[in-house]
This record gives sequence, C-alpha cells and structure tokens, in this order.
Amino acid sequence: MWGNYYVGEGYMYFAFIIIAIITLFAQFNVKGTFEKYSEMLNSRGYTGADVARMLLEQSGVTDVSVEPINGSLTDHYDPSKKVIRLSESVYSSSSVAALGVAAHETGHAIQHNEGYIPLKIRSSIFPAVNIGSKLAIPMVFLGMLIGYIADAYFLAYAGVILFTFVVAFQLITLPVEFDASYRAMNMLIQYNFVEDNEAKAARKVLTAAALTYVAAAAASIINLIRLLAMLNGGRRRR
Ligand SMILES: [Zn+2]
Repeated sequence: MWGNYYVGEGYMYFAFIIIAIITLFAQFNVKGTFEKYSEMLNSRGYTGADVARMLLEQSGVTDVSVEPINGSLTDHYDPSKKVIRLSESVYSSSSVAALGVAAHETGHAIQHNEGYIPLKIRSSIFPAVNIGSKLAIPMVFLGMLIGYIADAYFLAYAGVILFTFVVAFQLITLPVEFDASYRAMNMLIQYNFVEDNEAKAARKVLTAAALTYVAAAAASIINLIRLLAMLNGGRRRR
C-alpha cells in the first residue's frame, strides 16, 4: 500500500514537470508566433481596430466600443463595460497577427451579445474563482495543520472544494476560447478580410494562444490531484 502510494506520487511529479514544460513552451510559442506574424502585413491594409469595429457592425452588435490599452498581449473583452481593449501592437497595426487577435476579442463580444452559455457559466463562477485562487492552497495547508492537531479536516476539504472552482473555471474557459477563435476565423474569411495565406497565419496565432489555455487547464487539474494526494497522505501519516 505504501509502495503504491510512492509509485503514484512519482507519476504525479512526472506529470507535474511535463505540464510545467508544456506551459513554458506554450508561453514562448504564443509570443514567438505573434511576433512572427506581426511582421506580415495584411494585403487589405486594415488595422486591428478597423477589423474589430467592422466585425461588430457586421454582427449587429452596436453597444460595444473598441479602445487601445497599454502592454503586449493584454488584449481582452471586458463584459462589464462592453469594451474590446486592444494592445498597441494590435489596435493600430495592420499585421495578420493583429487581425487574428482583434477578430478573436470581437468573437468574445459577440458571445456576450448572444448569451453564449459557457461564457455565462464562466462569468458566474468568476467571483468564487477570484477568492479560490488566492485562498484555496493556504486553506489546505492550514487545514492539514489543524487536522494533524485536532483530527478535523473540514478546513482542508473546504480548501480543496474552493480549488475545484479554479479547475472548473479553467475548463469552461476552453470552449469559450476555442469558440471565439472559431468565430474569428469564420468572420475573417466570410467577410473577405484575409487572403488564404493570411488566414493560415492568423489561425496559427490563435492556435498558439489556445495552447496556453489548454496548458493552464492541465496544470490546474494536476494541482487539484496534488492537493488531494497531499491531504490523503497527511491523514494517513497522522
Ligand atoms: Zn479569448
């Protein structure tokens, strides 16, 4: 039984290292791919801001504005203010990478406008996730200490439950992100914003971004398994 426990733990650390490597690779990859296709200008000469505004109009979304924001890869859609914020290298750039990112963020605005269910679920669990991502792990550690002294593990289990919200959030983020990119590519092609080779390049940028979300989701699952194993291990050692 103890032997199995250590073998299990070995696999877990192996998985943990693999996912850490994938996460690092995904982050370098998204930066590199974005930089590469920031050099490739689209033949129609549209900027990211142009594309976002035109796609909103084409989709009949009239209450969302498009603004610039500082930083690199800081692009996002803010559902509370109904604003698409595009970084400097997207807002006024006419690169293929800028078009892809601008169309993706517009995809989120359209999801919001349509009441896309995974986006609604994601927004509804966000408050719990905000607390959970800061408190869950300290709660498990403190809970294990209390458990060791008083044999009461409620705080540790509460921490684990809180952490499951973090995992749920990372998982529900996947369909939200994939769908935004799917919408982005469809719109860019349908409304003739890109040539064939430009569409391929834009898709590469969006796929690289999607991989970072997959890595984050995998990392959160491994962290949950690690917390549970630690808790069970702690209880057994008591
Ligand atoms: Zn997104």
